[in-house]
Amino acid sequence: PVVLGIESSCDETGAGLVRDGRLLGSALASSMDEHARFGGVVPEVAARAHVHALMPVVRRALDEAGLRARDIGAVAVTTGPGLSGALQVGLAGAKGLAYALGVPLYGVHHLAGHVAADTLVHGPLPDPCVVLIVSGGHTSLLLVRDLARDPIVHLGDTLDDAAGECFDKVARVFGLPYPGGPAMDRTAREGDPRAVPFPRPLATGPSGHRFAFSFSGLKTAAARWAEHHRAAGPALPLADGAASFQEAVADVLTRKAVAACTEHGVSTLVVVGGVAANSRVRSLAEERCAAAGIALRVPPLRLCTDNGAMIAAVGDLLVRAGAAPAPLEVSVDPSAPLERAELHPAGAAR
Ligand code: ATP
Ligand code: MG
Ligand code: FE
Repeated sequence: PVVLGIESSCDETGAGLVRDGRLLGSALASSMDEHARFGGVVPEVAARAHVHALMPVVRRALDEAGLRARDIGAVAVTTGPGLSGALQVGLAGAKGLAYALGVPLYGVHHLAGHVAADTLVHGPLPDPCVVLIVSGGHTSLLLVRDLARDPIVHLGDTLDDAAGECFDKVARVFGLPYPGGPAMDRTAREGDPRAVPFPRPLATGPSGHRFAFSFSGLKTAAARWAEHHRAAGPALPLADGAASFQEAVADVLTRKAVAACTEHGVSTLVVVGGVAANSRVRSLAEERCAAAGIALRVPPLRLCTDNGAMIAAVGDLLVRAGAAPAPLEVSVDPSAPLERAELHPAGAAR
């Protein structure tokens, strides 16, 4: 069947249509510009924007695929994690469509969507693979078997800030425009990555494992560097700071990801999430995977950041695995940990 995927966990409203692992059409609307003057996503503004954009986005995805609503055979929707109000708009729309069309509904974990995004361009994930998920709210190394059937094993998570959050916060201190990650990437192009010796935080996890991350120390170091330069001299050597900061993040992420593959005897690394769009993260991952004999998969930029196609991709895997659909009473879970690709929380939202 054709699976419609709906994503509304943050500031992007996304719809995608997938059948048998193939992307048929997708559309996206963003309320990013409305949040820019606040320097971050305003939950109430995001929820209202989803109300406005949801059905037009679904219609655009259908148009692109040359399909009609009645061709939809299942609906998948992000039920968490994310902003509660934003998630509820997407879920309400998905329920209405599933009910009216008489098709099954699947609740999907947003991060499983980021992982599945890669399958739309590179085919089924090898079993097992190591996934480095680096986004605005999460930074984890995962051991993934069959995404639709098996539990997801966390090899390590960030102990404090997510990598994307660190990009955004440091960009703000540097005076770069919102959103910070892409601005930092652009600014870094003109800079010297060896100019500032920022720390390489090699955090150890609670049980002593080597695959945890910590970015708050690096964030503080970058903020101090900017303050120091502003106080001391005329112009902030912004490009050098950005390039050096980006190098430190990319170094830590890729070093640990490759070590996780080696230690677990896994021959494929998949890098997903918004920060996988970063040019240095991509190039350093390529270099280090090639040196270690590891196959690297990174989705194209448009599939790295939030979108509806990635949610449809998970729905398609669940349908084909024969997973049980969600009841129409299903709710959202704004802080759901990533345990399985399916997420069918009961009860009211927090
Ligand atoms: P989560 O998926 O954890 O719920 P999210 O959905 O907000 O969080 P994504 O949409 O996956 O996160 O990614 C957004 C993040 O990616 C932001 O922090 C943004 O700054 C960062 N980002 C996007 N492009 C780049 C880039 N080129 N370089 C660095 N960071 C980037
Ligand atoms: Mg976003
Ligand atoms: Fe995301």
